[in-house]
Amino acid sequence: MTLTYTVTEAMPQIVEDLRKTFRSNVTKPLSYRKAQLKQLYLLLDENENLIFDAVHKDGRKPRAEAWLGETVITKEEIVEVLKNLDNWAASEYVKVGMGHMLNSCHVRKEPVGTVLIIGSWNYPIALLLGPLIGAIAAGCTAICKPSEIASHTAVLLDELLPKYLDQSAYRIVHGGPEETAILLKCKFDHIFYTGSGSVGKSIMAAAANHLTRVTLELGGKSPVIVGNDADPSIVAKRVAWGKFFNCGQTCIAPDYIICERSMQEALLKHLPMALKELYGGDVKESPDYARLVSSKHFDRLANMLTQTQGRVAIGGETDLKELYISPTIVADVSKDDILMQDELFGPVLPIVVVDNLDDAIDYVNSKDSPLTIYPFSKNSKTIEYSEFPESTGSIIIRAVTNTSDGLVLENTRSGAAVTNDVIMHFSVTNLPFGGVGASGIGSYHGKKSFDTFTHERSTMNTPYYAEKFLEIRYPPYKENKLKM
Ligand code: NAD
Repeated sequence: MTLTYTVTEAMPQIVEDLRKTFRSNVTKPLSYRKAQLKQLYLLLDENENLIFDAVHKDGRKPRAEAWLGETVITKEEIVEVLKNLDNWAASEYVKVGMGHMLNSCHVRKEPVGTVLIIGSWNYPIALLLGPLIGAIAAGCTAICKPSEIASHTAVLLDELLPKYLDQSAYRIVHGGPEETAILLKCKFDHIFYTGSGSVGKSIMAAAANHLTRVTLELGGKSPVIVGNDADPSIVAKRVAWGKFFNCGQTCIAPDYIICERSMQEALLKHLPMALKELYGGDVKESPDYARLVSSKHFDRLANMLTQTQGRVAIGGETDLKELYISPTIVADVSKDDILMQDELFGPVLPIVVVDNLDDAIDYVNSKDSPLTIYPFSKNSKTIEYSEFPESTGSIIIRAVTNTSDGLVLENTRSGAAVTNDVIMHFSVTNLPFGGVGASGIGSYHGKKSFDTFTHERSTMNTPYYAEKFLEIRYPPYKENKLKM
C-alpha cells in the first residue's frame, strides 16, 4: 500500500471544479450540509478499526489513544454541529438606532467558498477531518491535503473519502512540501493549516498572494508551571499521561515543567511511580506506548539528549531500529539549554528550576506565546480559576498589577490554559481551540469551526417609502435640515 501523490498539473483543474460546484449553490442548503456531515460520521464509525490499524502502522499509536485522540472527538463534534447548525446558520437581526429605524439590518452567514485544509501527521484523522466538519457545516467546498508522513492513514482516507462524501464538493489531494507548494499557488477562499510555525510562514506568504484568509494551528513550548502547594503525586500522574500520550507528539503536550527546587525533587520521586502505573516495568514492551514517527524525528531528539547539560534523571533509552525513546525526564535544565530552544514534540520532559513563581512567569513571558499553559496549584488565587464569582473580583483586579500575588493566568499569554490538568481541553467540542502569536492564528472546534469557514455578510435594506425621510441627507445642505 503506497501513497501516490496527486499529479501537480491536475491541481488547478481540481480547484476549478470545486469552485464550479460552489457557484452552483449545491453545497449551501442546510439539508445538503447535514447529509454530508452524517456521511462523515458514518465514515468514522463504520471504519473505526481500519482507522485504528492505519494510525498504528504510522506511529504505533495505541488503540485507546487513537479512539480518544482521533475518532471519538471527531464524531462527537459532528453530533454537536448537527444539533446546532440551524441556529448557527440563521441570519442575525441587528438592532438599529433611531436614525435607521426604517432600515432592516441583518448579518447573513455565508460560506467563504472553496477552501484548502492541510493536515498534520500526529493526529492525521482529527486534524484533517475536524476542520472539514466546519467547512461542510458552513457550506464550503474543500480540498483536504493529509500529511504524507502519516502515509498509511493518507492511503486509507484516499479510499474512504470518495466513498462517503460528494466528490464534486470535497476532494483529497496528496503530496509532500513540493506538491503542496504548487497547490498553494491556486487561489482559495480560506486556508486552514496545521503544522509547524516555519511552514506556517510559507503558507501565510502563499495566501497573501491571493489575499486569502488563513487559520494557522501551530505549536510551541507549552509549560507546566507547578506551584509549591501542588500535590506532586497528582501532577506527576497527569503530566506523565499527557506528555507521553502518542509518545509526546501532541501539539499541546506539556513541553517542560518549571518549578522550585523542592517541587522538582518531589516530582522526581513521583514520576517513576506514575510511569510504572501507566506503562508497567518495561515501557518498551508496553502496547500503550507509541513510537516516533520517523528516523528524522528520532535523530533530532536523540541528538538533543546527547547535547543537553541537564541531568537525565529518568529514562534516556534510545533504539533507532524501533524508533523508540523511553519516557525521559531531564532535571536541572538551564533556561538556555538545547532542550529549551524549540518545541520538543517527543517523549523528553525537561524540568527547569526557578526561585519562585514570578521567576517562572517571567521566563514563560520571555518566550513565544505557547499553545497552552498548565498551572498546577491547590490555591485558586495562584492560578486564578473561576471559583470567584464576578462580584468578588476585587482579589483578581488587585493581582493584575502585581505578579507576586501569583495569578499565573493574568500575567501570561497563551492560546489556552488548563489548570491542574493537561491536554483535555482539545476534546471539549465547544471550547475554541487555537494559538496566539507564534502558536497560531484563529481557532476552531464547535461553533468556532463554523465561524472559521463563514463570511458574516452585513445586509441593510432601505424601503422605497423611506424616501421622504431621507430628504434631509441630500444637498443642498442647509443648517436647519441636519440640525447641526
Ligand atoms: P507535517 O510535517 O505533517 O506538516 C504539516 C503539513 O504541512 C503536511 O501536510 C505537510 O505536507 C505540509 N508541509 C510540510 N512542509 C511544507 C512546505 N514546505 N510547504 C507546504 N506544505 C508543507 O507536520 P509538522 O510540521 O512536522 O508538525 C509538527 C508541528 O505541528 C509541531 O510544531 C506541532 O506543535 C504542530 N501541530 C499543531 C497542532 C495544532 O492543532 N495547533 C496540531 C498538530 C501539530
